[in-house]
Amino acid sequence: MSSFVPSITLNDSTPIPQLGLGLWKIDPADCETVIRTAIDAGYRHFDCAAIYKNEEAVGAALRAAIAAGDVDRDEIFVVSKVWNNQQGFEETGEAFNQSLTRLGLDYLDMYMVHWPCADKGTYQSTFEAIAQLQGLGRVQTVGVCNFYEETLDSIIADTGITPAINQIELHPGLSQQQLVDYHHHHGIVTECWSPLGQGEILGHPVLGEIAEEHGVTPAQVALRWSLQHDRIVIPRSRTPERIRENIDVFSFELTEEELDRITAMDQADGAGRVGLDPREFS
Ligand code: NDP
Repeated sequence: MSSFVPSITLNDSTPIPQLGLGLWKIDPADCETVIRTAIDAGYRHFDCAAIYKNEEAVGAALRAAIAAGDVDRDEIFVVSKVWNNQQGFEETGEAFNQSLTRLGLDYLDMYMVHWPCADKGTYQSTFEAIAQLQGLGRVQTVGVCNFYEETLDSIIADTGITPAINQIELHPGLSQQQLVDYHHHHGIVTECWSPLGQGEILGHPVLGEIAEEHGVTPAQVALRWSLQHDRIVIPRSRTPERIRENIDVFSFELTEEELDRITAMDQADGAGRVGLDPREFS
């Protein structure tokens, strides 16, 4: 069963579903229900990471769905990320194998550097290891998370490879326009983590007014804003109704004026940040 979610073609020609399911903080005990609900609703993209400590349960749920014939392996896009304490060329290869084993899969669709942690000085060799995994056919595409201009410049210069995706905190409260412009210039697709601002932005009156206008919810408006800017979104929910609600965002369209009003929600100097600042986190 294919999905109605559009795909974006990355700089290495790999297609990725523009909307996926975030899996941070999803308790292993809930993974079966969450993932089967998501697959039924049309999700085909699953955003995991070693540090989420749920790869076994995520893998078991995905494999159960494949065994049940709900979905084929090549219809789903499975992502994991190397955690900061396993950065480095050799270590990243080991981390990748461990994630693959925990997930019980033969390959990953995308493997990512989770944070640059620039003061460690190992994000370049970490990225190089992921690029080598792509060359070996063990991963379809290579991505990074939380990279900013200097760290992107550095890996592109060192390896000659431009990551297909940079996954960054991005929602109406934190637009990151300068970094997004850098992505456009280099052909990097922007993927939004915390696209709902971890729920904190959903009470904003602008989202409420626009939601009422379209007969949808503030969460759907926030997601639509990112989608209409050609970004990837990976909302997380453990609530079945919300899992369905968050993918039901392809039957309405925001006007240019509405998009601009939402963009104006951005808070100066990164004050709308709900997560860690990558320039500071190590
Ligand atoms: P989100 O912005 O997706 O928000 C999740 C929160 O919003 C949960 O509390 C959820 O509650 C609630 N929620 C979900 N849908 C709705 C809705 N329709 N209406 C009202 N509330 C809703 O936060 P995340 O930080 O989890 O970001 C999404 C994903 O991005 C992560 O799960 C992870 O995969 C990725 N990520 C990556 C990072 C990185 O460093 N690369 C960092 C952070 C996140 P409930 O579950 O109770 O329904």
